[in-house]
Amino acid sequence: MPRCPNPECGKEVEEGAVYCPHCGTKLAKAAKRNILITVCVILLVIFSLIHLSNMLDYATIYGDFSGSIGQLFFGAFALVAAYFLWKSEEIGGILGIVYAIFSMIAPLSVTIHPEAIPFEYCVYDIIFDVCSSIVLIIFLGIGWKSLK
Ligand SMILES: [Zn+2]
Repeated sequence: MPRCPNPECGKEVEEGAVYCPHCGTKLAKAAKRNILITVCVILLVIFSLIHLSNMLDYATIYGDFSGSIGQLFFGAFALVAAYFLWKSEEIGGILGIVYAIFSMIAPLSVTIHPEAIPFEYCVYDIIFDVCSSIVLIIFLGIGWKSLK
């Protein structure tokens, strides 16, 4: 059982209680960032860096500026999700899952516009995107309970 953080009280309090029933001190829920959430934060930061480097490739190599802006958007989205996850906030989990779903769907646009980038050039990217999205969703799903 957790104890009241008020040094003059320090009595045991019910798990999950918001206020101490003895002295009324507000019990700050300790931020428990579990290992899965930490891994998700690291993955999201790595994905963000990949998107930002892709952004430069799209702009300079492929001359595809809408693709470039798309990559910037994904990179920024992943960073925002990582930031809130790092703070163990539930919105970080929601953003992380939305990001994972989008990054599974987005590569399919390549198959709709094969003239932009030949499909065979990005098969491994697509496999990577789908696998990394599945890992993110599983980790966030299991680690969810540590989010406030
Ligand atoms: Zn107390």
